[in-house]
Amino acid sequence: MSSPVPPNPNDPKKPAPPAQQPGAPKPAVPQPGQPAKPNATTPPLGSKSIPTSKPGTPGQVPVSRPGIPPASGSVPVRPGQPAAQRPAGTPPIAGAKPPGTPAAKPQAAGTPAPKPQPKPQPKPQRPKHGHVDSGSKALGQKLVDLGFLDEAQLELVYEEMRVSDQRFSNICVHLGYINDDQLLQATAEVHGMKVMTLEDVKPTPEAIKVVPRNMAELYKLVPLTFEADTLTVAMSDPNNLEGLDGIRNLLGIRSVTAVLAPASAIEAVMAKCYGKGGGSAGSGEEESITSIIASLENDKAFQKKGKKNRETSIDLDDLTEMANSAPVRKLINMVLLMAIRDHASDVHFEPFEDEYKMRYRCDGVLYEMVPPPRHLASAISSRIKVMSNLDIAERRLPQDGRIELNVGGNRVDMRVSVLPTMFGESVVVRVLDRSNVGLDLGRIGMAPKLLHDFRVCIHKPNGIVFVTGPTGAGKTTTLYSALSELNDIETKVITTEDPVEYEIDGLIQVPINAEIDMTFAVALRAILRQDPDVILVGEVRDLETAQIAIQASLTGHLVFSTLHTNDAPSSVTRLRDMGVEPFLITATVEAIQAQRLVRRVCSNCRTWYEPTRDQVTELNMKYEDLKGKFAFGEGCEKCNNLGFKGRTGLYELLIMDDDLRDMISKGASTDQLRNHIRQKGTLSLRDAGMASLYEGLTTLDEIVRETVTDDEA
Ligand SMILES: [Zn+2]
Repeated sequence: MSSPVPPNPNDPKKPAPPAQQPGAPKPAVPQPGQPAKPNATTPPLGSKSIPTSKPGTPGQVPVSRPGIPPASGSVPVRPGQPAAQRPAGTPPIAGAKPPGTPAAKPQAAGTPAPKPQPKPQPKPQRPKHGHVDSGSKALGQKLVDLGFLDEAQLELVYEEMRVSDQRFSNICVHLGYINDDQLLQATAEVHGMKVMTLEDVKPTPEAIKVVPRNMAELYKLVPLTFEADTLTVAMSDPNNLEGLDGIRNLLGIRSVTAVLAPASAIEAVMAKCYGKGGGSAGSGEEESITSIIASLENDKAFQKKGKKNRETSIDLDDLTEMANSAPVRKLINMVLLMAIRDHASDVHFEPFEDEYKMRYRCDGVLYEMVPPPRHLASAISSRIKVMSNLDIAERRLPQDGRIELNVGGNRVDMRVSVLPTMFGESVVVRVLDRSNVGLDLGRIGMAPKLLHDFRVCIHKPNGIVFVTGPTGAGKTTTLYSALSELNDIETKVITTEDPVEYEIDGLIQVPINAEIDMTFAVALRAILRQDPDVILVGEVRDLETAQIAIQASLTGHLVFSTLHTNDAPSSVTRLRDMGVEPFLITATVEAIQAQRLVRRVCSNCRTWYEPTRDQVTELNMKYEDLKGKFAFGEGCEKCNNLGFKGRTGLYELLIMDDDLRDMISKGASTDQLRNHIRQKGTLSLRDAGMASLYEGLTTLDEIVRETVTDDEA
């Protein structure tokens, strides 16, 4: 007998899986430098620019970095300022620490953080690792009852557990007391589950149809049968409650029954019934999205209801029924899962007069998916509204909500925005994968010298470090990468953001909620009373927030924040315009880093070419000043024929020195500040872009679009 799985995920008998496992592989939001796999069915909407000139043969290209300062340039340190507590170049302290290490546990808000000065006491490693948990006891007793293990062996296994970190089952198998089959049988009996070897089992077509491949892979289970609204799946981990939950929630199947099977057998069945896709299930998924859409297209009842609801009268019952229908659920789930897998940042559902579009954004570029039929518009928007707990009857006012999904062990948070338009509701789902994988300053495209200088700034004991740029410039990624380096048991870090984009073990993260007047200023004031060492303020957008940030810095805190400015020098002016006194700017601001993200040329199909005169003119430079060839991606398998893979950052780092302080006190203009730092060797964003261009990292179009010359600024 297979046991029905309790519908309640918080089954008291079984520990709920952790919401998030640091360090586990997980999808992330597009990171600079991290390859993303846009898997669109149509080419990117923005035309890929192919250079008009014939690309030259790939060969030696003189790589020049205009204006790179001499390497000896040391970072100015203000006289009388305490030295940085950690030397620059300290190896990054990874944000993700192994679970179970006591030192890695996040500090409770009330626990005072030890001040960093004294040498940290070596923390004892797992003081309690001799613990024999109740699960192991139950399994051990079952093995004895079944005659697979005798009492003496059981004691030895417990003994081993007390001195090692090994799991009970691993020890039993490792000592040769039992084999995998016996373990599986005992485990199944403990959990009241049925065992299946899956040797002669062939999942029914109905079962395969109802569970898409990506879900099976993510949740590590295979569907076996789907009869009378009950889905039976096989899995190897009896505690895989989250997989069963996912199936229930995402597919809307109430009754899911699980049997236990060896992991290898599950993999084999998966490969057999979903075909050999070699990991990437791209085409299969698109096919199934296409086939869901096709079936919905031909559904006469849907057509009728959809058309009716498009007109003036709204039948709430119809709407609810359509929103909850299996094909609509499945379609939305597939689209969202695909977006997560491809590290998309947003998914757009857009009604037009005669068509309906689904697009998603990867690496800053929108890709179109197979368009669903127009009459599905209200069903789709209603479905998403149901998922995000919004009022589906309200179709005239904008609404905001959120969806939380648990995908492959990672919590993925989605922000939903519904906007009524001329032709129906436009829905945008923003994917916030708050995992911290890839938050590494060394991997976001900073040149070595700039990276060194930036690290010096973020290791200062106090002061303000600003990161500036428009939305989508990667500011949050940079700041979180910096925080990951500072995040250790000796440092108390508090962040306040709107919304919290990454969730990092060890940081205290405070969300902003404007609706209840929890603004940056309010949050920041409260944070200061929590004795932090480092504070991240999502954005300084008004004088009040700026003043508290300054006060925090003056009272010995290191403050990170962002500004919405185009380059580093103009940030000074922005602060002044906000009403910040120049002497407070010079007393607190340590560094301002402006940045942009540009798409990275696929290294597999990179092709060099000699730019034409016209192209060089686009860069606002003289042809005579050209110092090398440029590159573009021809498109290949590895980049889905896009020619791009992932993104990389361009940076301009202004470091406050005595000259600058002098100029700012005297009210120097943005131009004067800019000229000054250029003379000192600070690269502009365009300079950084040109360096990337000559290195073949990005394309001319990306640089022209994302950066301007100082003259144009
Ligand atoms: Zn390629």
